[in-house]
Amino acid sequence: MGAFSLSIDPDGLGVLTFDLPGEKVNKFSRGALVELADVVSRLQGERGIQVLLLASGKPDVFIAGADVKEFLNARPGEVESSVREVQAIFQRFADLPYPTVAAINGACLGGGTELALACDYRLMSDSKKAQIGFPEVRLGIFPAWGGCTRLPRVVGLQAALDLILTGKSLDARRAQKIGLVDEAVPEPIFSKFARQFALRKRGSPKPESDRSASSLATFVLEGNPFGRRLVFAKARQKVMSTTGGHYPAPLEALTVIEKGYGKPIGEGLDAEARHIGRIFGGEVQRNLIALFFATEDVKKETGVSNPNVKPRTVSRVGVLGAGLMGGGIAQLVADRGIPARMKDIDAKALAHGFGAAAAIWKEAMRKKRLTRRELSAKMGLLSGTLDYSGFSRCEVTIEAVVEKLSIKRAVLKEWEAAVPRDAIFASNTSTLPIAQIAAEAAYPARVVGMHFFNPVHRLPLVEVIRSERTSDETVATIFALARTLGKTPVVVADRPGFLVNRILAPYLSEAVRLLQEGCSIETVDEAMTDFGMPVGPIALLDDVGLDTAVKAGEILHAAFPDRMEAAGQESLVEAGRLGRKAGKGFYEYVNGKRGRPSKEAYAALRVRPSEKTPLTENEIVTRLTCPMINEAAYCLSEGVVASPGKLDLALIFGIGFPPFRGGLLRYADTLGAPRIARDLADLAARLGARFTPAPRILELARTGETFYAASPAEEKTA
Ligand code: NAD
Repeated sequence: MGAFSLSIDPDGLGVLTFDLPGEKVNKFSRGALVELADVVSRLQGERGIQVLLLASGKPDVFIAGADVKEFLNARPGEVESSVREVQAIFQRFADLPYPTVAAINGACLGGGTELALACDYRLMSDSKKAQIGFPEVRLGIFPAWGGCTRLPRVVGLQAALDLILTGKSLDARRAQKIGLVDEAVPEPIFSKFARQFALRKRGSPKPESDRSASSLATFVLEGNPFGRRLVFAKARQKVMSTTGGHYPAPLEALTVIEKGYGKPIGEGLDAEARHIGRIFGGEVQRNLIALFFATEDVKKETGVSNPNVKPRTVSRVGVLGAGLMGGGIAQLVADRGIPARMKDIDAKALAHGFGAAAAIWKEAMRKKRLTRRELSAKMGLLSGTLDYSGFSRCEVTIEAVVEKLSIKRAVLKEWEAAVPRDAIFASNTSTLPIAQIAAEAAYPARVVGMHFFNPVHRLPLVEVIRSERTSDETVATIFALARTLGKTPVVVADRPGFLVNRILAPYLSEAVRLLQEGCSIETVDEAMTDFGMPVGPIALLDDVGLDTAVKAGEILHAAFPDRMEAAGQESLVEAGRLGRKAGKGFYEYVNGKRGRPSKEAYAALRVRPSEKTPLTENEIVTRLTCPMINEAAYCLSEGVVASPGKLDLALIFGIGFPPFRGGLLRYADTLGAPRIARDLADLAARLGARFTPAPRILELARTGETFYAASPAEEKTA
């Protein structure tokens, strides 16, 4: 059976349906493209067609784009010619002698959007699943099957740049607003509407393909060379400020759009093909593709190795503690349509939990991502209590009370008395071993860690912590729940600091040491943001809270005394400088916004930054990344995480380690183990034994292998 089927009604309506056999989604594999080329040849000669409707046979997907798996096998030298072939097929489609209408019923991304743009009209369902956009830059490439050339002609330059350079996608309403689709159609009547719309266009001449200069504002800015130059300059500036210039794809896309805009279509297509060849196969592109596959792999996993273990269905979630994390977790659960019941000992805390959840939804409403009705439906899924009423119906309870072992154990005991035997207790602890929390539990098999990161609604990682006594079913249920909540779960062992905080700890304390050696706060933070971190380590300490960081540091110091030494930020805690939440830490904060580094913070540390920075930016980066790599090597050896790929995924999604570097261990692999071993040994000789290279690094340096190649669990994307 083929991917495309064509039916022609006696009234002149042709319907071309894309339904890739054996797949959940439509995507442009090599085979599908070859078939499309044949279909287009047939369409060119069809006399009975007066209008063509392009539809999808999949319920929630129009066309998800190119087959990313085939990217892995594409040889950079062949990319340009294969792009030209696809462009030619789409161009022949665009040149069909009758009007064409794309009926976008679901996800329409990348190559799917490019084929839709080759149609004369686009209709889009208002279903939640229907999204349209160009995610290419997230994979280190840009739309080169006509997207960079056709989109600006349809929606204007600024709207096109906004979509292509960010990789975001739009729902039907927003797509209609910018002119990307002609109609946003209510889902229940979509198919009928599409047929009627197409029939109305039967026999009419094809519309003008360049519709961009329709509004006065667009015309004034984009209709003359000066205005256009301004738009491009601004866009370039924005890309540089958001990406630091680390991602070649959006910059190449800008060049391509600039070359093709206002020129005959062939010039734009030619620029696309020539430039895509330049970035294809580069390091950044390979890293982003690997990250894409690592994320896709998680979707296929269950969190346990036994394929017979099935997760339990979770229809209600309890949340213990309605503080910063509990409130955030309850909001997330309700946002995904699952009733969430919060319990606290303090009515004020409960009210605060409701308020925090409402604030997040109100912000979404302000950005027009949520309607008032949706907001009240979501609020309706939240409930609060000061006792355990209602908890017996929650299959999972997430515990987020204060970080104190005795309190967590007491809370677990109370909860046990209120729930059935098979309910699950998932602790959001940052540092306390799950085995210790469960030490006195009646059924320790159902106690597990579910470690969210702050702020819960933003950070995509959840560490699922399994103790030696946690059951497979418990792990699988929490893994599946994390996925339902839109998070990326990574299973980690029940070791102090788990994975992410353990690797973060030496990085943060080393950053404070640099201040004690005379580096300024700005120099340290800028070195790491230039490296690609979303915030510098000192600013991150302020965000985490210095008291929290000190407490976590103590636990890690007790567990790994040779490497994790306290760095001295206790003096700031004593001075009441707890970070952002206190309005003062290493930085000053005004209305919650980070201001300048604080003189008093230096005073509390009893240091003064040197006029001339004692270390270069490269030296700072080496000094701060080496201990992270070293700790990551220990984590791998101890089996804290299954593979380098999982470790990288956790650090990218948990602390924003730069995706273009592919993660901490991919970065380490580009440096090579011999260099890392040398740097660590040098730092150890100068600064102390905490830098002593981990045995695994020395072993890799000896054998010449990389972290990825040496890991038996590592996937083919290595
Ligand atoms: P918080 O102080 O903001 O909230 C704790 C809440 O627990 C308070 O509202 C308190 O009234 C309530 N509480 C105390 N005893 C209780 C009891 N017996 N029953 C019910 N509620 C009780 O703390 P938080 O920052 O939300 O941290 C909660 C947990 O999440 C801790 O284990 C912490 O380590 C972990 N965590 C925190 C962060 C973070 O960045 N703050 C990140 C990840 C994990």
